[in-house]
Amino acid sequence: MREINKEKALVVFSGGQDSTTCLYWAKQMFKEVSALTFIYGQKHIQEVDAAERIARQAGVHWDKMDVSFIAHLGRNSLTDSTMEMDQMQPVGGVPNTFVPGRNLFFLSVAAVYARERGISHIVTGVGETDFSGYPDCRDAFIKSLNVSLNLAMDEQFVIHTPLMWIDKAETWAMADRLGVFDIVRNETLTCYNGIKGDGCGHCPACRLRREGLEKYLATKNHG
Ligand code: ZN
Repeated sequence: MREINKEKALVVFSGGQDSTTCLYWAKQMFKEVSALTFIYGQKHIQEVDAAERIARQAGVHWDKMDVSFIAHLGRNSLTDSTMEMDQMQPVGGVPNTFVPGRNLFFLSVAAVYARERGISHIVTGVGETDFSGYPDCRDAFIKSLNVSLNLAMDEQFVIHTPLMWIDKAETWAMADRLGVFDIVRNETLTCYNGIKGDGCGHCPACRLRREGLEKYLATKNHG
């Protein structure tokens, strides 16, 4: 891992596996870390409580921001309780768990928030590898938005995506290397049904998380 940076970073923090791993990654990389959790009309507000608890345990500054207007802009099954959640990736499209514009809004708000606090490094747990083809998780989008944010505010933000090219198994490996495997396993909330740790076991997020965990543990035990 690279030399510790003497600067401040803001982590876009949901309290899930990915962003918690990123939070501890940032703690190794930066002198001072803050975490910002977005309320966007999630069905399970326990996510926000889990995020606050994890951030406090990590000893980082934590804050939350209400951006729930994004749930009203477009329909998706993460915020609309009348919608049945897609269990599989539909052919030629994204699943209805896709919240249109979510990372666009999150990162834009995060950048303004960071600027106000003299922070130029922004960390997000998005990645191309295991996601369901969400366009705003792709590297090209993140790089493009980074340029736009810099132009919009005449700043030199750097958006870090430590998980961009790694899968869930490698994300577990990273958490283990950072010494936070148990925290990530037990305290984070990834499950679409709002159950922390290993979750409900059958929603798409739980399945992805478990498959990654099993793959990582298998390589760890036999590697
Ligand atoms: Zn679940």
